[in-house]
Order: sequence, then structure tokens, then C-alpha cells
Amino acid sequence: MKNIAVLGSTGSIGKQTLDVAAANPDKLSIKVLAAHSNVELMLRQIKEFQPDFAVLVDKKAALELQGHDTGRTEILSGEEGLLAAASYEGVDTVLGAMVGYAGLRPTMTAINHGKDIALANKETLVAAGSLVMEAVARNKVSLTPVDSEHSAVFQSLRCGTHEEVKRIILTASGGPFRGKKKEELADVTIDQCLNHPNWSMGKKITVDSSTLANKGLEVIEAHWLFDVPYEKIDVVIHPQSIIHSLVEYVDGAVIAQLGLPDMRLPIQYAFSFPGRYDCSFGQLDLVKAGTLTFEAPDLEAFPSLKLAIECGKAGGTLPCVFNAANEECVYAFLDGKIKYPDIPATVARVVEAHHSVDRPEIEDIEEADAAARRQTKEFLAGLA
Ligand code: NDP
Ligand code: MG
Repeated sequence: MKNIAVLGSTGSIGKQTLDVAAANPDKLSIKVLAAHSNVELMLRQIKEFQPDFAVLVDKKAALELQGHDTGRTEILSGEEGLLAAASYEGVDTVLGAMVGYAGLRPTMTAINHGKDIALANKETLVAAGSLVMEAVARNKVSLTPVDSEHSAVFQSLRCGTHEEVKRIILTASGGPFRGKKKEELADVTIDQCLNHPNWSMGKKITVDSSTLANKGLEVIEAHWLFDVPYEKIDVVIHPQSIIHSLVEYVDGAVIAQLGLPDMRLPIQYAFSFPGRYDCSFGQLDLVKAGTLTFEAPDLEAFPSLKLAIECGKAGGTLPCVFNAANEECVYAFLDGKIKYPDIPATVARVVEAHHSVDRPEIEDIEEADAAARRQTKEFLAGLA
């Protein structure tokens, strides 16, 4: 039995993680739930899973939750509550499904307390990949990917040795604006952005998928997860989202993982690895899937992909700064404060202005993240 803490339980990945747990009650036990402020959903999750404790980081929301009958489940709040969730002795595996840089501290805390990590929260690896992977090695814990592309690569990597890998190929759906030129993206709306063709996800990652910043973050994520240089990681657009990613070996063999676009499979595999559970969330029908197509990404229309990879290659604090600026811009766009093309343009300005620190310690990362957010807000205020 795996005893699990779900950080970000009320989000898209969190809810699907609970589906996976409900489908495998003899293998997965939910001991802790944590989220930001969604009282109503947290209450329902507590009733269903009866964890030892639940956390709402927002103190007002936690207080409201405490006013309800939560049975045997204790309610904690604030950053302290979140870190208690990440380090709880009754848990062996922490599923990281918070959104953004906010996931870094709890993930590091969980690793430093010897927890195995199932990681959806890619921003953590982007911001502090070297520190996270060092901590994983030092504490001898496992870190399994939840992101569908990385789960596909993780599965495909089992067909050869590290030395035999020639190239990792990440697939991307291309998002709702695939095929559009730069000029056509000037006035796209929030609703158009959130209308992803294949996946239903949280708002931040959905905007990132439309700008291809998400794929840029995923290239950096792959670099750290699989210890592969950037030169060996490629991106190909595959609009059907059936092939979730591929690994090319030195003998020319290409191994891929295919499946329906349903996150419950990669979530489940992150728990079941190195085995598989006898529990399927739907079977791919190749005839129904029909034609699978591939194209090169348009780096002019979607400059965030190229910039993220450049930041990854440059290393130091630049990936952290790219991520921080991107988060701030995406939320400003979702708040209706800026236009769509302001996202990549402002991220590029913030990255350009940053003086990167090589071999950063956690303090350098925290400082770079905070400074990048301040700088982004300044630039965005100038646009108004
Ligand atoms: P959502 O926005 O749907 O959910 C985010 C979750 O994190 C919610 O439970 C939210 O709580 C919680 N949260 C947000 N901020 C904080 C905070 N400061 N402290 C504690 N909890 C917080 O996001 P997704 O589920 O879509 O994405 C989660 C992560 O997984 C992201 O890093 C994303 O890139 C990655 N991912 C997502 C995929 C998907 O299909 N959705 C696919 C691959 C990766 P509340 O509801 O209370 O606000
Ligand atoms: Mg992905």
C-alpha cells in the first residue's frame, strides 16, 4: 500500500489523482490533502477519502473549513500546514500537483524528508532543476514524472541504456492557435486561449500550451529528469495527442508510448512504476484514432518555446527567471490586464535584463524569482 499526500488536490491533476486512488483502493491510500482555498471541493474530498489531515494554505478558507464537520480529519493552514503535509511521517509518496513556483518549497521539503515524489508541477524542476535532482540523489528517493510527455519518455527509456539514447522527442498538440501566424495572434481572447483542442487542464497550463511556453518548460523538465543535454531534445507538433513522446536510440529504433489523452494513465504509472496496475481508464482504438500527423513548431509565431530552450541551455538562474516572468504575465493576461502578445514580449524583456547566477543555491533561486516578478510587474505597469 502506498500512503500518499496530494499537494494541489483540488486542481485538474489533483482531482484525477483522487480518481486513480479511488480506482485502486487496495494499492493507494490518501493520507493528506492540500490546496490553496477551495473550501467546498476540499470538504467533499475529505468526506470521500478521510485523510489524517487536510491543508488549505489560505488561512481564511481554512477557518471556514474548520467550521464544517470534517470527521476524523484535522485541518491545518498556511505555509506551515503545507510543509507539514510534505513532511508527514504517515506518508511515503508525495504527489506534487500545485501550480507554479509555489510547489518548489514543499517538493524540496518532501524530498529532504525521504518521500518519493510523483511530480506534475514542472515549474519546480524548471526553476531549480539542479537542486531538486541533487536532493533526490542525496536522499535516495525516487522522482517519477506525471507530465504525459515525460511519462511517455520514462516508459520508452526502458528499452535501452542511457548511453544508447540518441534523442528525446517531445510531442506537442500545438494548442488552439496551431497554424496561426504571429500577426493573427494580436487580439486573441482569454476564452479562445482556454479552449484547448485535446486536454482539459488548469488555466495557467492551458495558456502555456497555447503559447508553447509549456513545451519550453517541458524541454527543461526533460533535461533534468533524464539527464540528457538540450541538443538531444527535440519538439515535434502532433495535433492528435496520441503519441505522448518518443525516444530515438543509436541504432535508429524509435520507441514511443501511445494512449488516449487522459492524464489518469501517467498519474497511475507514476505510482505503479516499475510495475503496472490492472486498471485502465480507456483503451486506444488505432482505427478510430485514424491519421496521426506531425509538423515542426513555428518558432516565430510562438517565440516562448525558443526562448525557454535558450534559457535552459544558458542555465544558472535564467530558467527560474523565464518561469517567474511567464507566470506573472499569464496571470496578468488571465486578469484581462495585458494582451496576448505582451506575454512572450515581456518575458523576453525580463530574461534580457537578468544577470544570471551560475550554480545557484536555493537563496539565489528565491532572489531571482522575486526579482523577476518585480521586474515583470514594472514592465507590465509600463504597458498600461
Ligand atoms: P490547477 O490550477 O487545476 O490546480 C492547481 C492546484 O494547486 C489547486 O489544487 C490549487 O488549490 C493548488 N494551489 C495553487 N496555488 C497554491 C498554493 N500557493 N499553495 C497550495 N496550493 C496551491 O492546475 P493543474 O492541475 O492543471 O496543474 C498542476 C500542475 O501540474 C502544474 O504545474 C501543471 O503544469 C502540471 N501539469 C498539469 C497537467 C494537466 O493536465 N492539468 C498536465 C501536466 C502537468 P485551489 O483549488 O484551492 O486554488
Ligand atoms: Mg505535458
